[in-house]
Amino acid sequence: MNNNFIDVLVIGGGVVGLAIAKTFAAEKRDVLVVERENTFGSVTSSRNSGVIHAGVYYDQDSLKAKFCAPGNKRIYEYCNKFRIPHFNTGKFIVACSKDEIPKLDEIYEKAGDNGVEGIKRVTRDYVSQVEPLVECEEGLFVPSSGIVDQASLMRSYLGELELSGSIAYNSKFIKSELKNNVHVSTVLNEGNEIKIESSILINAAGLYAEDVAKSISSMDKTLIPKTYFAKGNYFETSKDLNIRHLIYPIPNEASLGLHLGLDIGMQVRFGPDVEWIDEINYDVDENRLESFYNDIRKYIPTFDKGLLKKGYSGVRPKLKNRGEGKSDFIIQGEEIHKSKNLINLFGIESPGLTSSLVLGEHIVELVS
Ligand SMILES: Cc1cc2nc3c(=O)[nH]c(=O)nc-3n(C[C@H](O)[C@H](O)[C@H](O)COP(=O)(O)OP(=O)(O)OC[C@H]3O[C@@H](n4cnc5c(N)ncnc54)[C@H](O)[C@@H]3O)c2cc1C
Repeated sequence: MNNNFIDVLVIGGGVVGLAIAKTFAAEKRDVLVVERENTFGSVTSSRNSGVIHAGVYYDQDSLKAKFCAPGNKRIYEYCNKFRIPHFNTGKFIVACSKDEIPKLDEIYEKAGDNGVEGIKRVTRDYVSQVEPLVECEEGLFVPSSGIVDQASLMRSYLGELELSGSIAYNSKFIKSELKNNVHVSTVLNEGNEIKIESSILINAAGLYAEDVAKSISSMDKTLIPKTYFAKGNYFETSKDLNIRHLIYPIPNEASLGLHLGLDIGMQVRFGPDVEWIDEINYDVDENRLESFYNDIRKYIPTFDKGLLKKGYSGVRPKLKNRGEGKSDFIIQGEEIHKSKNLINLFGIESPGLTSSLVLGEHIVELVS
C-alpha cells in the first residue's frame, strides 16, 4: 500500500468534478481527481443534451437559479477563449395549446427574476417564419440558449487541471476517515488499495454521490439525501430538418419537456423523456417511439414518424421522487455536516453542465 499526501482529492471526473479540480489547480493547489471509469466524463456528462441553458425555469431562491444564468455567460466566454465548439442557437419555448399560455407567462416572469437577458414574447407567425416546421399558439424566444461540445469542454478543463494536478482513471473511491483534520481515503486502482491523504475532500460522484457520502466515516449519515433515478431517453433522426433553433415545449415537474435539441453538427435529436428507474441502466426501449412521435407532433405536426430512430439515454440524479415536486442541487459544506473541509454535491442534474464553471468557483470559495 502506498501513502500519498495531497491538498485536494476530488471524487469523480465528470464535468463538475473537473471544473472544481481545475479551479483548485488554477490556485496552484495540488489536486488529484479519482475517476472509477477508464476515461473522464463518460457517465452523465456525456449523456445529456449539451445545452447551454439560459436559466429561465428555476425558482428564484434555488441553487439552480443561482448558478445557471451566470454559468451561461461564463461558458460562452470560456468557449470563445479556448475555442471550444459551440453555437449560440437561441431557443423557442412553445405553448402548443391555449391552456399552456399562462405557463409561458410564468416562465417569462421567472426568467426576469433570474436575470436572464433578452427573452421576448413571440407570436405563432413569428415562430413559423423563423422555423417553418414548428407550429404553436404562442412562444418565448430565449437568445442566450445554445449548445456546446461537452467532450471538448471537458478536455479543456482537463488540460487546465493538468497544470497543477492530475486525474487517475480506473480508480474507485472506497472510503474515507478523518484523522487529525486529514482525510485518509482508500482508492481501489486496478485491484490495488491505495491510501490518499488530503486536506480537502470533494464528493462530485454524480449519480453515486449518495453511496460515496455513506462511505465517508466523518459524515453524519442522517444528512445524506436519498437519490432517485430518472432516466432520460433520446430518439434521433439523421435527416437534416433545416431547424437551427432549440425547440422546447412547456416543462413538466421532472423535466424540461421532450424537446428538439441539436448536436454540434446540427443533427436533430428529441428528448429526454422521463422514465423513473430503480437501478441505473442506459437501455432505450424501442416501444417509447410512439409516445415520442405523439409529443413531437404537438409542435411539428408534419413530422414523419419513419425518421425516428433510437438514440441514447442519460440518468438524472433526483433528490425528490416521482410526484414529489422539483428537486434542486444540494451542496453540503462544513457548516452543514461539521466535517472539516469536506464538500458533497448531490442531485447535480440539469443545468449542471451549464453551471460547471461557476459551481467550480463556488466550491473552491467554500473551502478557502
Ligand atoms: C438526460 C440528461 C440531459 C441533460 N441535459 C443537460 C443540458 O442540456 N445542459 C446542462 O447544463 N445539463 C444537462 N444535464 C445535466 C448534466 O449532464 C449534469 O449536471 C452533469 O453532467 C453532472 O456532472 P457531474 O460531474 O456531477 O456527474 P458525472 O458526469 O456523473 O460524473 C461523476 C463521475 O464520478 C465518477 N464516480 C462515481 N463514483 C465514483 C467512485 N466511487 N470513485 C471514483 N469515481 C466515481 C463517475 O464514474 C463519473 O464519471 C443533463 C442530464 C441528463 C441526465
